[in-house]
Formats: sequence, C-alpha cells, structure tokens
Amino acid sequence: MKGLIFFVLLINFIFLCPNLVYAGMGYHLKCDNCQAEEDLLFGIGMVSKVVANGYCYNCKKYVSITHGTAKDEKGLYVNYDGSTNTQEQIEAMEKPLGYVYQPALGKIALYPCPICGQPFIPIKEEGFGTYENPTKMYCPICNKKALQGRGGILWD
Ligand SMILES: [Zn+2]
Ligand SMILES: [Zn+2]
Repeated sequence: MKGLIFFVLLINFIFLCPNLVYAGMGYHLKCDNCQAEEDLLFGIGMVSKVVANGYCYNCKKYVSITHGTAKDEKGLYVNYDGSTNTQEQIEAMEKPLGYVYQPALGKIALYPCPICGQPFIPIKEEGFGTYENPTKMYCPICNKKALQGRGGILWD
C-alpha cells in the first residue's frame, strides 16, 4: 500500500511539475545568409497551446498565436508567459481569417497577426525536415533560401 501511495505521488509530481515533462517542441530558426535567429514553439504544452506561428511583414517580426489551456480562479485561461484570455478570445484566436491553396503545402489557414491583425501564413512544422537533415526554407527577412529550423527545444 505504501508503495502504491508513493507511486501515485510520484506520478502526480511528474505531471504537476512542468520542468520535468514537456509536451511542446520548439525549433531554433537561423538564416545562413542574414544570420537572423528566432525560436518558435509548436504543439500543446502542459499549460499552453500554440495555434500558429508565422512572420508578419507589417510588424517585421515572427509572431505566434498561443493561449493557455487551464483556467485560473477568475475563469481566465493562463498562458505559459503569464498572459490571460477569456473563452471568447480563445475562440477568436483559433478561427482562421480564411484559407489559401499553396502548391507546395496544400491547404493553409490564414491567421490574423496578434499584434496588428494583418494576415500571416503559418509556418508548418513539417517543413523543417529532420534534426540531422534540416530543410532549407526561404527567410522572411532577406528572402534567400537559407533558413533552417532545428528542433530540440522542449518547452512547457
Ligand atoms: Zn535571412
Ligand atoms: Zn503584425
């Protein structure tokens, strides 16, 4: 019985301690031409969900739509960075502006930039290739095919 209690406590500890269990994967993006670097997070973590990542030409920066997945005592969803959202805000965030067809990638959702509201096309995780053999992508900053994303960043 003592062993079982210890086991249950251990399991609780593992699941409640976000530093030990990660569910989201992050990628480090680096351009070999202009040397621009950025970390992008993907997936659903312990407390947050990434809806989409992309580059906003209007804001001239990488942007990300993320929100919390668990409510606080006020009924707000708390994101991993401490920001909070209502249920309505989350529904609005997850709703694409529309869809476009892109020959190399197929159907792609367009999301509004969380800063300026202009549409951006999400960067797809599948496009990165493998860790040993990352795919070269176009860099949104210098527009050269010199951008690589490497996985391995565990978050949330
Ligand atoms: Zn570049
Ligand atoms: Zn923007």
